[in-house]
Amino acid sequence: MAYIPYATQTIDESDIKAVTEALTSGWLTQGEAIPLFEQAFASLHGVEHAVAVCNATAALHLACLALDVGPGKTVWTSPNSFVASANCALYCGASVDFVDIDPVTRNMSADALAAKLELASAAGQLPAVVIPVHFAGLPCDLQRMRELADQYGFAIVADASHAVGATYQGLPVAQEHADISVFSFHPVKIVTTAEGGMLATRRADLAARLRLLRTHGITRDPAELEDKHQGAWYYEQQRLGYNYRLTDLQAALGTSQLRRLAQFQRRREALAARYPRLLQGLPLALPAVLPDRTHSWHLYVVEVTDAAAVDRATAFARMREAGIGVNVHYTPIHLQPYYRRLGFGPGMFPHAEAYGRRAMSIPLYPTLSDPQQEEVVATLRRALTA
Ligand SMILES: *Cc1c(COP(=O)(O)O)cnc(C)c1O
Repeated sequence: MAYIPYATQTIDESDIKAVTEALTSGWLTQGEAIPLFEQAFASLHGVEHAVAVCNATAALHLACLALDVGPGKTVWTSPNSFVASANCALYCGASVDFVDIDPVTRNMSADALAAKLELASAAGQLPAVVIPVHFAGLPCDLQRMRELADQYGFAIVADASHAVGATYQGLPVAQEHADISVFSFHPVKIVTTAEGGMLATRRADLAARLRLLRTHGITRDPAELEDKHQGAWYYEQQRLGYNYRLTDLQAALGTSQLRRLAQFQRRREALAARYPRLLQGLPLALPAVLPDRTHSWHLYVVEVTDAAAVDRATAFARMREAGIGVNVHYTPIHLQPYYRRLGFGPGMFPHAEAYGRRAMSIPLYPTLSDPQQEEVVATLRRALTA
């Protein structure tokens, strides 16, 4: 039986043609493909500004820098995420803390956030930035978080790495509420540029800072120069930035992929709608579906409950042996050895920890066929049997 991964990219002839054209267009980087990709992404996500960068980890780093995260500041994120959601604060010399998840949505709990803010406010230790994560593609409680942000004065950087195309209260997920939303184009995500990331924002001031930071902190824009009396050769480095650019080859691939986003979404939705029917009766907790938001279905995560005859590790090992590429998203960040050495440990975020012990991502990607999906479920049924 062919190996079935938990996720994979969907590349077709139109993608290959787009990259080949970019390769012979005269620009391999810093050409026209980047603004075209940014505009396509911005209009799909209902934001004025989109800034493409080399990966979402770099995007999270720049988002923190653009919001003046630095030594003495604190950033809060969800423990149920990829480590990059927390590492970005440490790159800036800030400290990091976590807010426990809601066990139903598996996202940062707005109630836990409100409670932690109240304590932090009394102690004079409010965060500068909160990074909620739209886990698996299900948008967070953004409206509630925005109200808390306005009340307590922090900025919201939504880690939307999983959530390309997701909607919240009828609008694209990045359109309102978050100051900046960050997306990833890693091959396992919704659309890919091999490596790649995007920052989406409605704020022109943040977009300008992000563009500056993406390219060494250098500007050539005559309107921006501090010394206006030099020649056409002249540029200025105004901040300490990085080379976090995406290439034109990648941007061309991204634009080509975005043309098929709706098609990818329909297939992901169809598979996600079939899973609960196929999995009926198994001792599993399934992903929540909420009426006021649409899921982008980057991941389909089941939780092996106490009612199962075997534990998660056994079921997981059996799935892998049978050629099904299950995975765990995520072991809570605060339990990573690096974070334990910073003082975090078991018991601090119990919902994320309980979820992390039970979670198993099963295959979901546009080219997964119905028979393959049925094979995944049949294998899982056997794997959960004593
Ligand atoms: C994939 C991912 C990232 C990092 O994305 P890269 O583009 O690989 O740097 C960050 N946060 C989350 C939640 C992710 O899933």
